Amino acid sequence: MCVMTDCLFCRIVAGEIPATVVSDSDDVMAFRDINPKAPEHILVIPKAHFDTAAAMATVDPLLAGKVVAEAGAIAEKLGFAADGYRLMFNTGANGGQEVLHAHLHILGGRPLGPMLA
Ligand code: C5P
Repeated sequence: MCVMTDCLFCRIVAGEIPATVVSDSDDVMAFRDINPKAPEHILVIPKAHFDTAAAMATVDPLLAGKVVAEAGAIAEKLGFAADGYRLMFNTGANGGQEVLHAHLHILGGRPLGPMLA
């Protein structure tokens, strides 16, 4: 499904780079962030390659909805939904996006305050 061989997250989807997978379906995958910023830090990605969340939502709004819904399901499954959590799509250089494959950060497991730095 994913064709960009030089994309880090496409390579995780292809099983070429290891990741601690939390969930895996036909079109969405989630894995633990290797450099966690909170006790719970999970990335939810579309398996198809889109550079940004906005590009994904423009081309395939159903898929974008699945990514967000999966984040909620993971928070429930792992038991931190009731305490609350943060969902975040970094976009572009000023947004701090380092990996140019749309990914939704789930941050939870501690109070995060009003905004991340
Ligand atoms: O939003 P941004 O692009 O900065 O986030 C990329 C995230 O991907 C980082 O939090 C980084 O720790 C994570 N990452 C990962 N596994 C890799 C490479 C990066 O979880 N192999």
